[in-house]
Amino acid sequence: MNTEIIAVGSELLLGQIANTNAQYLSQQLAHLGVDVHYHSVVGDNPHRLRYVFDNACQRADLVILMGGLGPTKDDLTKETVASVIGRKLVEDEQTLQSIHEHFAQRQQTMTDNNRKQALVIEGADVFANHHGLACGMAVHEGKNHIHLLPGPPQELKPMVEQYMIPYLLEQKFAEEAIVSRVLRFFDIGESQLVDLIDEELEAQTNPTIAPLASDGEVTVRLTVKSADSSEQKRLLDETEEKILKKLSPYFYGYGNDTLVERVKDSLQKQSLTLSVAESLTGGAFANMLMTVPGVSNVFAGSITAYTNHIKERVLGVAPTIIQSDGAVSESCAKAMAEQVRECFQSDVGISFTGVAGPESLEGKMPGTVYIGVASESSCECYMINLAGSREQIRKRASKYGLYYVLK
Ligand code: ATP
Ligand code: MG
Repeated sequence: MNTEIIAVGSELLLGQIANTNAQYLSQQLAHLGVDVHYHSVVGDNPHRLRYVFDNACQRADLVILMGGLGPTKDDLTKETVASVIGRKLVEDEQTLQSIHEHFAQRQQTMTDNNRKQALVIEGADVFANHHGLACGMAVHEGKNHIHLLPGPPQELKPMVEQYMIPYLLEQKFAEEAIVSRVLRFFDIGESQLVDLIDEELEAQTNPTIAPLASDGEVTVRLTVKSADSSEQKRLLDETEEKILKKLSPYFYGYGNDTLVERVKDSLQKQSLTLSVAESLTGGAFANMLMTVPGVSNVFAGSITAYTNHIKERVLGVAPTIIQSDGAVSESCAKAMAEQVRECFQSDVGISFTGVAGPESLEGKMPGTVYIGVASESSCECYMINLAGSREQIRKRASKYGLYYVLK
């Protein structure tokens, strides 16, 4: 049983909105073990919709269309599907009733346009919409199962969960469930990671193991096929354990976890506060922290101390340190971390000093970065060599800072 998902809407083609409905539906179908072979996007144009739908019916068994069920002229999905499969549109009593109730409750008058939303394809099973007016529906024509869903995600998602998934299960679309778990790693390259888990990769069957590098991080997706949920969990747990045995120093989270959220959660759990002194990152670290809601519980503030003068005058780094070792040095990074911790009266102070490039500085290559982490009991300095553009170096250095705070 294979599936094609068709998103209808010119705003998708114009790039005004992202096709998040397709992503959501694909994830839901994967969990059910339903294979999705194609995603299509088409504008609000009846000829092109007809063409795309016709094509989909030939190459897929289940065709899901989303969007274009509204009351306006450009909403043409139902009409087009009905015409292609040679059926009429008929009024659905129950949907009409709920549209009447909707307007009565709001003391508004219903228009003929709204009445159009009670039309369904003849013979369809109707999915009620408890968050909007357009109902969804499922029809069976020849070898094709055809589902129509509303475009707004806040209407589509509850309809999928409440009606479409149970419907698919009832129709025995889903034979074996596919579930995946994503493990997240930092401070390790993809090739080194692949090397370390070579044995597991060679032996993989169920779950499959898929490493993926992106944005300076590596993820490993474990995907398991099994109809039994406790069996799924057992297989995933076993493989995760084997992988973490080799990669635990680099592991920091699951799924959509981010380093910055992990840092916030970890500091909050320990009731610790953090402050930062930034030279080469120039505020990038503070900016990363600020993306997390509620970070005010753990983040005291930041100083961008870019010039040596400011490192000394504002932050209070001893001039002798910069004279003898330079600003791009372990001693300067440590002094910056200690000073900012003192200045903000925080539990942890972190600092960044280095060379963002493209020119070398103090005889040090671009990408040379010193990160200081000071707490009440210790002051550590980490030296790293990063590759990339000036922007990438600033961003990667900030991520390393998060990683060292977590450590
Ligand atoms: P309405 O009754 O609101 O007109 P509809 O079923 O006709 O619903 P559309 O008109 O196609 O749906 O889309 C309405 C809105 O839903 C869009 O403006 C957009 O905000 C959102 N939307 C539509 N399709 C998608 C999609 N594929 N992914 C994410 N959001 C979408
Ligand atoms: Mg619409």
